[in-house]
Amino acid sequence: MQNQDNELPGPWARVHARFLARYGNVRCEHWSEPLVEIVNGLPFPVYYDDRVLKGFARKAAAALRSICATCGRPGRVRRVGGYMAVACGGCFGKEQMTRQIESLLDECHGEVGDPFDGPKAAWHEHDLPTLLRSAIPAFCWRHTYPPQTGPIRYLTREDVTRLAPWLAKLAVVMAR
Ligand SMILES: [Zn+2]
Repeated sequence: MQNQDNELPGPWARVHARFLARYGNVRCEHWSEPLVEIVNGLPFPVYYDDRVLKGFARKAAAALRSICATCGRPGRVRRVGGYMAVACGGCFGKEQMTRQIESLLDECHGEVGDPFDGPKAAWHEHDLPTLLRSAIPAFCWRHTYPPQTGPIRYLTREDVTRLAPWLAKLAVVMAR
């Protein structure tokens, strides 16, 4: 979602600029050095000896931690895949969905899992994360009726293969 260099994403850059302007008003001096730096996807205050500047840096970093870096709506710090990011529910959901689709397609192509078992043959509905499960159209599911548990939906490898182009398109749309 974020690049790891110190370029601030758009929504953060706008808020950061407001903090710089506010500092300028308080001190009657123009300051253009960054108040925050991004470390592993999260904003941290840049250290300054000057107490006022230090205060502004701390407040700016704290403010950015509650703003989605992708769209600017209220967000919070979340674990996205292997790293941390500040994201709103919507952007986080899209990101999750994209990852879930990619991992389903990888499973279907036999690119993950035990190489001796070969590609996965079927997906029980509970094998799929909730978000992805709810995106699979109703008519695509097969049904089985074990007497103990009641009806269970599942997809075969053939079904997932047939769904693959549509899922791939969905992943692209979600990643936007
Ligand atoms: Zn967002």
